[in-house]
Amino acid sequence: MRITDIREVAVPLRGDITNSVVNFAEHTVSLVAVQTDVRRDGGPLTGIAFNSIGRHAQGGILRERMIPRLLAADPDALLDPSTGLLSPARVLGCTMRDEKPGGHGDRAAAASAVELAVWDLLAKHNDEPAHATIARAFGRRPMTGGVPVYAAGGYYHPDDSLDRLRDELTGYADRGYRTVKIKIGGMPLPEDVARVEAAIEVIGGGDGVAVDANGRFDRDQALAYAAALAGLGLRWYEEPADPLDYALHKELTEAYPGAIATGENLFSFQDVRNLLAYGGVRPDRDIFQMDAGLSYGLTEYARMLDVMESRDVDRSQAFPHGGHLINLHIVAGLGLGGCESYPGVFEPFGGYSPDCRLSDGLVHPGQAPGFGLEAKPGLGDEIANLLKELG
Ligand code: MG
Repeated sequence: MRITDIREVAVPLRGDITNSVVNFAEHTVSLVAVQTDVRRDGGPLTGIAFNSIGRHAQGGILRERMIPRLLAADPDALLDPSTGLLSPARVLGCTMRDEKPGGHGDRAAAASAVELAVWDLLAKHNDEPAHATIARAFGRRPMTGGVPVYAAGGYYHPDDSLDRLRDELTGYADRGYRTVKIKIGGMPLPEDVARVEAAIEVIGGGDGVAVDANGRFDRDQALAYAAALAGLGLRWYEEPADPLDYALHKELTEAYPGAIATGENLFSFQDVRNLLAYGGVRPDRDIFQMDAGLSYGLTEYARMLDVMESRDVDRSQAFPHGGHLINLHIVAGLGLGGCESYPGVFEPFGGYSPDCRLSDGLVHPGQAPGFGLEAKPGLGDEIANLLKELG
C-alpha cells in the first residue's frame, strides 16, 4: 500500500451561533483525502476525515509541512510491518518530523485530520465500519447496544429568548435525546440560571442537563456559577475556566460537588497527565472530553485513555468533544462513556448520517465502511468535490 496523493480543502461551518467566547460564523474545517495505490470498486482506495470542529481549517500546516513530508517519505516506513497496510502511528510520526515537542496548538488538529483519514482507509480496506476496525486495533469488542448520546445545543442565538431555548430542547427530547447541554457564560448569571432552569424543566431533571462555559470565567465568576449551580444536580459543569489553569480547576473541584468536565482543549497525553496530577480530578465523577480530531488523532487519544486509566479514571467517563460521525465510531470502538451530537448545528460536519438510528438516548452507528462520511447529506457533496481534485 502506497500513498499516491493527499488533498485538503477548507469547508465553512454553517451557523451564526455563539458560545460565551466564540462565534462560529467564520469557522472552517479541514476535510482531507488520503489516496492510495490500492484499487477498490474500480477506483483508488481513499481515506477521508476532518479535524473535528472548533479550531478552524489547517490547510497551511498541512500543505506546507505535513503533506510534503508524507509524500517524500519512504513508502515502506509508513506501513505496519505486520499487515503491509498504512500505520496510523507511523503516518502521524512522519507528519511530525522536525517538529519540536510541546506547544500543542493548531498542528495537533492538522495532524489529526490525516491520521484519522488513515483509520477511515483501513476500515474501508477491511470493508467494515470504522468502529469495528478501531475496536480490533485496541483489543476490544465494539459497543453493539448503541452509544449514549447527548444533544449539544443551547447556544446563544441572535434575538434569543427562553421560549426559543425551550422549543429547541423540546425538539431534542422529541427526537429521542434524554440528555442535553446548553451554553452558559454569555449572559449575566441570573439570566443564565434562568436558562438552565428552563432546560431542567423541559428535560425533567438536572441529571439530564449539562452546562458549558467554554473556559470563559475568571476565578470569581467560576466560583459564583459553581455556587449557583451546585443545588441543581446537573449532569456536569463544563470548562468553567481556562483549560490549562490546573490550579484553579483543583479549587473548583473542591468547591463544586457535582461532576466537572474538561479536556476538549488538551491536545496531548502529557497535558492530560498534568490535569490528572494537578487539577484535583475526582476519579469517581469527573468527565474527560479530549477529542481525537483536535489532538493528533486516535493514536494520541489512545495514549490519553491509558493515562486516565492509570489514574483510576474509567473510560466510561470519556465523552469526546465533537458531535459527529468520526467520534461516534471512536466511542463505539473504544467503549467510552458516550458522545456528543449537534442536531441541526455545525453542518455539514455536525450530527450523524441517516443510517444512524437514535432512540431513547442511544445512537446506533450505520454499517457503511469507514466512518461513513460519504453518506452524510451535504458532507458527501464536499467529499465528491475533493475527490475530483485527486489524480
Ligand atoms: Mg465544550
